[in-house]
Amino acid sequence: LLLAACGGGRTAEGTGGGDDAGDGGGFDADATVGVSLPWLGTQNWAEAQDLFTAQLKEAGFTALVQAADNKVPQQQQQIEAMVQQGAKAIVVGPIDGTQLGSALKAAKDAGVRIIGYDRLIENTDAVDAVVQFGSIRTGELQGQSLLDGLAERKGEGPYNIELFGGGPADPNAPNFFTGAMSVLQPKIDDGTVVVVSGQVDFQQAATQDWDNGKAQSRMDSILAANYSDKQIDGVLSPNDGIARAIITSCTAAGQDVPVVDGLDAETESITSIWKGDQYSTVHKPTKDLVAKTIEIISAYQKGEEPPAADETENNGTIDVPIYALDPVVVTKENAKEVFADDPDRLALLDG
Ligand code: BGC
Repeated sequence: LLLAACGGGRTAEGTGGGDDAGDGGGFDADATVGVSLPWLGTQNWAEAQDLFTAQLKEAGFTALVQAADNKVPQQQQQIEAMVQQGAKAIVVGPIDGTQLGSALKAAKDAGVRIIGYDRLIENTDAVDAVVQFGSIRTGELQGQSLLDGLAERKGEGPYNIELFGGGPADPNAPNFFTGAMSVLQPKIDDGTVVVVSGQVDFQQAATQDWDNGKAQSRMDSILAANYSDKQIDGVLSPNDGIARAIITSCTAAGQDVPVVDGLDAETESITSIWKGDQYSTVHKPTKDLVAKTIEIISAYQKGEEPPAADETENNGTIDVPIYALDPVVVTKENAKEVFADDPDRLALLDG
């Protein structure tokens, strides 16, 4: 697993967007495009499934959109089957960033264009580009929002907090944590923030498979062992599902709802933020990510150079062109503004 330090391994400059796979020629306008998503366990992936299915079709392609239920062999087989079915481009949100090397090599050898979606694909040269929201940046926003929420709701520190990370196989998860810790560590060092359990390493904080139930059990144990005589003020959460699991655990233990950040702007979390429980989420609009991905595939289809990438990131084997979109923090205060052009989410903010 590649642990990209803040900025490390990245160079910020426009790059061509990977024109070394395939022969540079295009493919048929109605060609098959495969999409292999890791699972449908969080709202962003379910939205991606719907949007890819509709918009690939709208762009004239034959869409083959699948999700792999968080099982690596299933995802490998899906990708292999897509190659056999003649896919000319395959979009992959990897379950484990390091486990797709041979499936993707076979795809590359068959001349298929490969785009990483939302997550980096690691340790292989069989990837043309990755489209995602900056993962270190996402973590920085999460950490900063946690601090902002603590100041707003709890006044002056010191604050008692706990730290949660996402699934360790997902290359985003250590990056989210690294980004958040770059903001939180100075506050831990100066005593403003106290991690009462002492569990400050990513490996301790990680949540296997992004499983909300596992996060909830870990929170239960931490509360039982450390907070019988203390209030927990805040918790760093890597996404919305885990944020809600944390809030459920704290409430069940008789605690006030702590300040908790999130990720994905999920329906249930927007509702929670609106009623004043979860403090914030980070919005990374799936529709923008899908649109950018299809824009790149359309360039490949025409045999044209795709738009310039924003930066490159070393994936352990090559420098991958990265299209990095900007995530945005959402609190109760700015929610109406952020979701002004998202009627489904805006509708949650009435009453
Ligand atoms: C995505 C998040 C999602 C998480 C769990 C991450 O890679 O960036 O949006 O919540 O996976 O599915």
